[in-house]
Amino acid sequence: MNLPIYLDNHSTTQVDPRVFDAMKPFFLEHYGNSASVQHTFGWNAEAAVDQARKSIADLINAEPDEIIFTSGATEANNLAIKGIAEAYSSKGNRLISVMTEHRSVLDPLASLTKKGFDVTRLPVDEFGMIDLNLLQNSVTSKTILVSIMLANNEIGTIQQISDIGRICSEKNVLLHSDITQAVGKIPVDLKESIIDLASFSPHKFYGPKGIGALFVKKRFPKIKIVPQISGGGHEQGLRSGTLNVPGIVGFGKACEISRTEMIDEMERIKKLRDRLFAGLKTQFQQVFLNGHPEKRLLGNLNLRFANVESDLLLAEIRDIAFSSGSACSSFNPEPSHVLQAIGLSEREIKSSIRFGIGRFNTVEEIDYTISKFVLVVNKIRNSSSQFLSRFIR
Ligand SMILES: *Cc1c(COP(=O)(O)O)cnc(C)c1O
Repeated sequence: MNLPIYLDNHSTTQVDPRVFDAMKPFFLEHYGNSASVQHTFGWNAEAAVDQARKSIADLINAEPDEIIFTSGATEANNLAIKGIAEAYSSKGNRLISVMTEHRSVLDPLASLTKKGFDVTRLPVDEFGMIDLNLLQNSVTSKTILVSIMLANNEIGTIQQISDIGRICSEKNVLLHSDITQAVGKIPVDLKESIIDLASFSPHKFYGPKGIGALFVKKRFPKIKIVPQISGGGHEQGLRSGTLNVPGIVGFGKACEISRTEMIDEMERIKKLRDRLFAGLKTQFQQVFLNGHPEKRLLGNLNLRFANVESDLLLAEIRDIAFSSGSACSSFNPEPSHVLQAIGLSEREIKSSIRFGIGRFNTVEEIDYTISKFVLVVNKIRNSSSQFLSRFIR
């Protein structure tokens, strides 16, 4: 077993060596611009992009021409939200989303608020689930977009997206979903779920960083989106710029691997997750699960150790990569808005940590993690109770 151990697979993942092998020739040999239609370098690149687009579409039950390449899920979320708001502002000014969304959804919505749009952010229950009746009642004739993520990146909660899709389609309002944490890890079927727009990127499932996609459903009437980056008219005019061919090839390969291996991988990751949670629970009575007990991503374990600050755990445990609930991103050391939304107190948020188990984790790594946590949590609890007893005496 090698140290350090990577248990932060919701932040990003290791590129699968098979993905890297597929990408490599597109840096060194087939480096053409996929828009160069006059020579073989361009044709090779274009053929590879076409094939990748098909693999990506196949994984989520979409059509290849419904995939618009972007630089990542952040850009795809921005394109969907700002692009729809601009295109439909004559129809209405209301958008509906959820308090637990990723920042790359919440921030574009906040910028729309400044421009006069009326944004509702629905609350969630203690497990992170939205109330479908509340959603239904929130949609008005002025609502132009509903944006609800499929799986949450912090607590792993999976929303009932098919029911949400049914409500939106009955109300005739567009549904966008940030499906970044779900794609490649659980079955996603965009036709079955009636989703109109969806954002995702492969670096969350063993593909490269810096590439992503927005799915835009082909439907009648056509969905209108105002492009946020204009130039050469690439990607049906929705996102200009020379395509990241190696990234797209890697994206396609990551999708192919997930499609064939997903069911086995889900089983394996679930076992590791259960082993880690069970191992910690037998040692500590005071360890609690944040998020939904069943409707959650299998690799996600967001836990709270009573009276142990996650910052102390992070400081003491240098050979295991995991993340805390208080600093969800290094730019933004605020208490997690997701943990706040499920009703945790500031103290509980400060004692929450997130494990993200992935494809390359092993039983040995999980066992090492359990024993390390047992050692360190006990050490912290002993020293803090000594600290407290000084005052009590
Ligand atoms: C990682 C993540 C994003 C951002 O994706 P990038 O491709 O890194 O821009 C957006 N939404 C969710 C839910 C994520 O987990």
